[in-house]
Amino acid sequence: MTVEQAKQHYTETMAKVDALDYATSLLHWDMDTIAPKKGQAVRGETIARLSGEVFALTTSEAYGQTLDALWENADRLDSILHRSVAVARRDYEKDKKIPQDLFEAYTLAQSASNNAWKEAKAQNDFALFRPHLEKLIGFSKQFVELWGFEGHPYNALLDNYEEGMTVELLDGIFPPLRDATAALVGKIGAKEPPIKPIISAGKQEQIGHYLLRTIGYDLEAGNLFTTEHPFESRIHPHDVRVTTHYYEENPFSSLFSVLHEGGHGMYEQNVSDDLPGNLHSGASLGIHESQSRFWENMIGRSRAFWETQFTPLSAIAGVGLGTDAEDAFRTANHTAPSLIRIEADELTYNLHVIIRYELEKAIFSGDIAVDDLPGLWNEKYLEYLGVSADTSAQGILQDMHWSAGYFGYFPTYSLGNLYGAQFAVTLQKELGSLDSLIRAQGGFSKIRDWLTEKIYRYGKLETPSQILQRVTGEPLNSRYFIDYITAKMADLYGI
Ligand code: ZN
Repeated sequence: MTVEQAKQHYTETMAKVDALDYATSLLHWDMDTIAPKKGQAVRGETIARLSGEVFALTTSEAYGQTLDALWENADRLDSILHRSVAVARRDYEKDKKIPQDLFEAYTLAQSASNNAWKEAKAQNDFALFRPHLEKLIGFSKQFVELWGFEGHPYNALLDNYEEGMTVELLDGIFPPLRDATAALVGKIGAKEPPIKPIISAGKQEQIGHYLLRTIGYDLEAGNLFTTEHPFESRIHPHDVRVTTHYYEENPFSSLFSVLHEGGHGMYEQNVSDDLPGNLHSGASLGIHESQSRFWENMIGRSRAFWETQFTPLSAIAGVGLGTDAEDAFRTANHTAPSLIRIEADELTYNLHVIIRYELEKAIFSGDIAVDDLPGLWNEKYLEYLGVSADTSAQGILQDMHWSAGYFGYFPTYSLGNLYGAQFAVTLQKELGSLDSLIRAQGGFSKIRDWLTEKIYRYGKLETPSQILQRVTGEPLNSRYFIDYITAKMADLYGI
């Protein structure tokens, strides 16, 4: 096969995969939003069939030969194609290492586990989920052996969600973050929850649209919808939809969900169209989360945001979002140790993630068994957050990740916070303080343009650590987030 033939075959395969992915994403979107109940089964089968087509295309012998032919001539590929082929080879080799029958058995175990988890959570009974969890951990341990790893076995799983991430790196990053956060949580103590205004779903929807327009999300390349759990759905960079949920007694919930999902959405909308299919989306879960949390927390939960947005937001709502801007700013930043990760505030959130990281790491190093998990879960919550769950539904059964076998996923949430704070330091060196940008006319577009120029447009052209190094000039460092959150808590709570 000549290089030209290989390039042509590669481009054709990529175009087919793109089309199938596009269709699958739309089917998923429809299933997660408006599909009627009776349509679910056939929808699931169709998605499985289309995904099977993608799997067949990208694991075929012919495709493997094409990738080899291109890689043997790597010096003749331009930098974009070079990276695209490198990513494709990495995926190809990982997929090829898992025997088909093992993968099928795993898929079956996953769906059985998910059902058992739902039942266990509803009945508050970890014992119902326990054998399934053990089984999925067993599969993941087999995958780790088949894929191979350097250093800690858990590295092979981390790498699935954040390319290049390792235990060695995280063990340098998470302990200082954990200790600094736990110390702040202890100093702040328990505070009375704030009183929130009641705002109708219709008004909250208007607020959602206003916020998306304000931050620069392109409403001609996406829109805002309602679902039980907020999410962002990238069908294509020209079609990136976001959803939210309206609680009339807690309007802040939707407001911050919209900023969060809008942050994810803007990232996808601004990935360069020059990139081929397998690079044509956000770099990684961690980098993605850095963008959603940047807009949600570093912008939306800042004093400057509330001092400038309190009046327009209250005008749309027809009622004040607090007694004044300062009151709304404090409500938005209410901090308290809690049991549920997805309801946790900006300060305590990382502790929930670090607990899961420490447990997963110990599982995959073989230091602990499944039966140790509930006890260790409660011990760590008590030690780091000072709270412990009365029920397993509020404790170890709260997240769906383990029920689906997503081991190695959790750390990306906290990585997002750390990357975001590190990017923000560079952004402020180059554009001036976030405070002044948020208060200035046109400040949000300056911020968005900077992020597009430095991060968004690159898609997956670089690894997460390459992006961080290029943008900030140094590797990941948790000091920036620790400094940021310490200063914020000092301001809010006088500690
Ligand atoms: Zn997110």
